[in-house]
Amino acid sequence: MTTLQDCQRLDAQDPLRPLRNLFDLPHGVIYLDGNSLGVCPKATPARVAQVVQQEWGQGLIRSWNTAGWFQWPQQVGNKIGRLIGARAGEAVATDSTSVNLFKVLSLAMTLQAQANPARKVIVSERSNFPTDLYIAEALCRERGWTLRLIDAAELPTTLGPEVGVVMLTHVNYRTGAMHDMAAVTADAHGAGALMVWDLAHSAGAVPVDLNGADADFAVGCGYKYLNGGPGAPAFAWMNARHATRLGKDLWQPLAGWWGHAAPFAFTPEYQPAPGITRFMCGTQPMISLAALDCGVDTVLAAEPLGGMAALRTKSLALTDLFIQLVEERCAGHGLSLVTPRAHGQRGSQVCLSRAEGAYAIVQALIARNVIGDYRAGDTQQPDILRFGFTPLYLGFEDVWNSVEHLRQVLESGEWQRPEFNQQHAVT
Ligand SMILES: *Cc1c(COP(=O)(O)O)cnc(C)c1O
Repeated sequence: MTTLQDCQRLDAQDPLRPLRNLFDLPHGVIYLDGNSLGVCPKATPARVAQVVQQEWGQGLIRSWNTAGWFQWPQQVGNKIGRLIGARAGEAVATDSTSVNLFKVLSLAMTLQAQANPARKVIVSERSNFPTDLYIAEALCRERGWTLRLIDAAELPTTLGPEVGVVMLTHVNYRTGAMHDMAAVTADAHGAGALMVWDLAHSAGAVPVDLNGADADFAVGCGYKYLNGGPGAPAFAWMNARHATRLGKDLWQPLAGWWGHAAPFAFTPEYQPAPGITRFMCGTQPMISLAALDCGVDTVLAAEPLGGMAALRTKSLALTDLFIQLVEERCAGHGLSLVTPRAHGQRGSQVCLSRAEGAYAIVQALIARNVIGDYRAGDTQQPDILRFGFTPLYLGFEDVWNSVEHLRQVLESGEWQRPEFNQQHAVT
């Protein structure tokens, strides 16, 4: 049996422990929702204030040059690139995940339409995050393609000669299940399809090697494990081989002036900028990019301590411990583990299901300052209690305490109180 003292000992021995000091965690809060909205880094308020007061307030329009604003999307993109196996110039921080997905997916469809016009099917998972499916469906309607939704296990058998693009989220937002990126990408390519990955629950959470897997396109989120703040710019990635091969002919559908090779030439003809820069559309949000930059820096701060590999080791230790303690200390309360036990198939979160009361249990935990979240089920999937583990700012004692609160909430029946059973707009 693991004890509270064991957990405290693990924290004392944890080489990543100092990284917690990079954040402004509210006192007494155990934050298990960094997979939805990361914690505010200590550096962010001053940096944002500096952008507003000095760079905008005093520098005014000169700051596009003097503060280097114009290059921030690529600079932050390159920093994110270090976390996802991108080469310099392959990733850009811009727009939202949904908008970036529209751009990369549309371009992947165009590439297939030129090379293999008979391939008119996008394959994705039924359990993918809804916005990904809506964007794919919208593009299919526009282009006369079909969106084929499958369960993960059906993937190998569904890749026929009609499939143009496989679009998957690497770590599932509901279950925390993780795909083998290299193997799935190889299967997609073997079947003649292009591979698009959504890294919303991967970037800053698990090691990712897009070039190692030889993927085609990827998008990901800035406000989850990258701690960029609410509505932070997302990112887009494209394998350099596409830009190298197609150059000027490679347009994304939102071909705005910021993606032009020479925006300030103001020419009437569009000519895409080299590399990933062409994935920008219009003027970029500098205040938000400054906050995202601070967030990405908190993840890069782990580089001297072993980087994503060290974060992954700790993340697995935290999620292993959470699973073990829930099974030891909350047994008999109807909770079942939804997230895969196998390390190779698990992201940085643990999801539990319960036939009744999942929403109310999460509310009762939040009232005790243990913040996780709830995702509703449907006819195929149960309601879920979702707990994200960000190794940058969570420790082993936090895991112990969160399970102890969960045990008390279940044992006392406290979750049955009416105030915990009223649903809010944002869950
Ligand atoms: C969080 C998330 C998104 C969010 O998209 P937005 O455009 O930022 O709202 C998209 N896809 C996945 C898989 C996500 O987990």
